[in-house]
Amino acid sequence: AKRKREDDDESGSQKRSRDSGLVVHHYNSRPDVGVHERRESPIIGLKNFNNWIKSVLIAKFAKRAFEGAPPPPPGDLKSRGKVLDMGCGKGGDLQKWQKARVREYVGLDIAAVSVEQARFRWEQLRGKKFAAHFAALDCFVEPIASVIPSATLIPPFDVVSMQFCMHYAFENETKARIMLDNVSKYLRKGGVFLGTVPNGEWIMNRLSPLSPTSEPAFGNSVYRLTFEEHLKKRKYPTFGHRYTFFLKDAVENVPEYVVHWDHFTKLAEEYSLYSIYREEFHDIFQSEREDKEFGALLQRMKVVDSRGVSQMDEDQWEAANIYLGFAFEKR
Ligand code: SAM
Repeated sequence: AKRKREDDDESGSQKRSRDSGLVVHHYNSRPDVGVHERRESPIIGLKNFNNWIKSVLIAKFAKRAFEGAPPPPPGDLKSRGKVLDMGCGKGGDLQKWQKARVREYVGLDIAAVSVEQARFRWEQLRGKKFAAHFAALDCFVEPIASVIPSATLIPPFDVVSMQFCMHYAFENETKARIMLDNVSKYLRKGGVFLGTVPNGEWIMNRLSPLSPTSEPAFGNSVYRLTFEEHLKKRKYPTFGHRYTFFLKDAVENVPEYVVHWDHFTKLAEEYSLYSIYREEFHDIFQSEREDKEFGALLQRMKVVDSRGVSQMDEDQWEAANIYLGFAFEKR
C-alpha cells in the first residue's frame, strides 16, 4: 500500500503544481480510520457537526433537484437522481446519498488512494445499493469526460456536490474555470451545484485587523490559518490568495486559497450557474435545528447529546464557522 501511495503521489507530478502535489500527498497519506477510532478523535464533535451540515444540505437540495430527474423505471419507485461528487475523498458522503435515494453516483478525487477507499466503502454499503463509478482525476486540470465513459454522462447529472474541496481550485483562474466547466457541462438545466467551502469574507474579517508587524496568522487550539504575507483588505489577489491550513486531527498545514465570494459568483454565472443559497455554518445550525427531521438528526449524529448539549467545545464551535454552505442552480 505504501509503494502504491508513493506511485500515486509521483504519477502526474509533471503536470501538477507543487501545491496540488502537497494536497494529493496529504489526503492519500491520511488513514481511513474505522468508526471506533473515529470516535476517539479530539474533534469528534466538530467532525459530527460537519457531517450533519452536509446531511442537511444534501437532504434540502438533492430532494429539490431529484424531483426534476427522469422518473425511475417501474418496480423501482423510490430511487432517482444522478450525482457527481467532485473531491469525493474516502466516500464519507456515500451513506448520505444513499439516504437521499440516489440512483447513480460518480465519485472523483485527485487522491487515488482515497478513491479506492471510497470504492471499497461503496462495496461495503448495506441496504439498497445505487450504481456507482469512481475515478482518480484532477478535476481542476482535466475534463471529467477523460475518465468517465460517455454513456455515463447521458442523461446528465441532477446534482454536482463539492464538499470541503472547491477552494483548492482557486490557485489560479485557469483551474477555477476548468472546475466550473466540469461542474456545469454535464449538469442538467434546473440541476443543483451544492457544496461547502471556507468563507472568504469571514477569513478577511479575521485577517485584516491584524497589525502589519504581527504574524499574518490566526486560529485557536483547533485550527490555524497562516498567510505568507500580511495582505491588507482590498489588496488581495482574486486568485492564488494562499494560506496554509491546520485543523487538529484532520489537516496538516495544507495549502489552500481564499474564495472571494463576489468574484466566484460572477465567474459561475459565465457557466450558467446562479447562486440560490449561501449560509455560514453557525446560521445553518440556528435555522435548521428547529426542523423536526434535522433536529432529530443532530442527536442521532451525536452533534448534541440526549439533553441537547453540544459536543463541541468553544474552539471547535469557532472552527465550525470557517465554512459556509452554498447552492447554485444551472439555468
Ligand atoms: N468531499 C470529501 C468529504 O467531505 O468527506 C473530502 C473532503 S477533503 C477535506 C478534500 C478533498 O478534495 C480531498 O479528498 C482532496 O484529495 C480533494 N481534492 C483536492 N484537490 C482536488 C482536485 N484538484 N481534484 C479532485 N479532488 C481534489
